Amino acid sequence: MADELIAQLGGSLAAVNDRIRVACERSGRDRASVRLLPVSKTMGIDKIRALHANGCALFGENKVQEAQHKAELLADTPSIQWSVIGHLQTNKARFVARFASEFQALDSLRVARELDKRLQAEGRAIDVFVQVNSSGEESKFGLPPDEVEAFAESLHPFESLRIRGLMTLAVFSESHERVGACFTRMQQLRERLRDNDRASGDYDELSMGMSGDFELAIAHGATVVRIGQAIFGARLNPLDYWPPSG
Ligand SMILES: *Cc1c(COP(=O)(O)O)cnc(C)c1O
Repeated sequence: MADELIAQLGGSLAAVNDRIRVACERSGRDRASVRLLPVSKTMGIDKIRALHANGCALFGENKVQEAQHKAELLADTPSIQWSVIGHLQTNKARFVARFASEFQALDSLRVARELDKRLQAEGRAIDVFVQVNSSGEESKFGLPPDEVEAFAESLHPFESLRIRGLMTLAVFSESHERVGACFTRMQQLRERLRDNDRASGDYDELSMGMSGDFELAIAHGATVVRIGQAIFGARLNPLDYWPPSG
């Protein structure tokens, strides 16, 4: 059974990697400039182990409690690491400081302060991405694009946060134009940050693109694509969070 799952996920991982390679070729980019982050939210431990057996070591999770629970269950495999990609409440920063190696959803000074404090206490530092609301939708987390520069300039005191770049979720739409407009906004914002000597961080990274739009994101300069369903299979019920109830 485990072998079957390893082969099955190995197949879908190879297919996704192939699509990433083709997207890179089309835009004249080096394949090594794009990192695939498998998103394992709602997926069980067996699937995570099977993907790990296929060479994946860092997994994205959007809910702190779910991620922490999985990290505990997989503590026997220390080569598995965790990237928290969802909004963080200040009171959960201490958990992230303990088990995560990357945090992609920084969107407030309160969280920056609390996470930095907890990381200092753990004697750790992690890679951090500032989340931007590139679509302007009210339902989305992240800073409005025009607030990001001032925010980046205020991150200097937090020495345990290695600010690596920006993260966004584009508008959920069939329209390449509307999705592409979000990605273009992110590219321009990253350029401004790179030119801004007062900003804390290096802004080499642009985390954007999911199962439905990662090729377009790569064409717009994404350096990290966060992909769940195209690897693990559909999440039938979006509310069906792991572990399953009942
Ligand atoms: C779920 C999720 C993804 C992956 O979405 P898929 O459609 O499964 O590829 C990427 N980023 C974030 C922040 C997510 O919550």
